[in-house]
Amino acid sequence: MSGGGAPTGPTLLAVDLGERHLAAGIVSADGSMGVRDRVVTPSKDPLDALLRLLDRVLAAAGEGRMPIGCAVSGPGPVDPSSGEFRPVGLTRWHGLSVRRAVAERTGLPTVLESVGRAYASAVSEGESVVAVHLGDQVDGGVVIDGVLLDGANGRAGMFGHLMVDPSGPLCVCGAVGCLEVFAGPHSIEAQTGRDLISTPLALIDRAGIMVGRACASLAAMVDVRRIVVGGLLVEVFRDRFIDHLRTEFEERCRLSHLTDSSVRVVQQHVLAGPAAIALQSLSSVTAGSTHRGE
Ligand SMILES: [Zn+2]
Repeated sequence: MSGGGAPTGPTLLAVDLGERHLAAGIVSADGSMGVRDRVVTPSKDPLDALLRLLDRVLAAAGEGRMPIGCAVSGPGPVDPSSGEFRPVGLTRWHGLSVRRAVAERTGLPTVLESVGRAYASAVSEGESVVAVHLGDQVDGGVVIDGVLLDGANGRAGMFGHLMVDPSGPLCVCGAVGCLEVFAGPHSIEAQTGRDLISTPLALIDRAGIMVGRACASLAAMVDVRRIVVGGLLVEVFRDRFIDHLRTEFEERCRLSHLTDSSVRVVQQHVLAGPAAIALQSLSSVTAGSTHRGE
């Protein structure tokens, strides 16, 4: 358990579900973080471990600082009807009614969002951005003038299944050459049989090229100047990956109207994304529930 500055005014509960850790913290309306804690994600009963984590964080929040709402980020997409995370290939989350369980345990209105879309909200700074998050899976979001685009089902931004190489390997989704195959940590580890830190240099280079290729396509498709990339893969692969990403991106952004597009790396605390979503839900609370919350 660690504490930040004492939040003042209304506070919110920010939660992140990862394959490696479950994290939760109290965030104030101005975005500053209060108490927070995390546990290793257990292979069995992750929901039970999550609820016990939330009990501890809320107990540490203290009287007068109890949150008034909650946002949970996790492996997308979110199933809006059941309130579950339904990631392709990451089956431990399937069938867990996260939204209902968290809302009942905490007594708080609770919204779910995919990690990538939450990351996009956090890095947008109220402007327009395409964000690509290379965490447990390849995910992301599109923000235009500060508004996160939802799509028909609140799933816009699942960039993992963009096709970047028509002769590429088979993806878990059933198609071939998806970005997920080249830049998803689980896909890479499955291909090498090694931990991500031991990935051969050729695959690091290939990942950078494929992410650069996808970012260039997104820049042309969506018409934004800022493309932002972050997540575990960037943290582990570092400069070599980023160099290949930038080179490929610049080589594929030759149209005159794309020359002012740029791609940069932004790494954030895992709770920054759900904190941004929680703050948005707070600001729109008078508008009633959303399709992802209850
Ligand atoms: Zn795919």
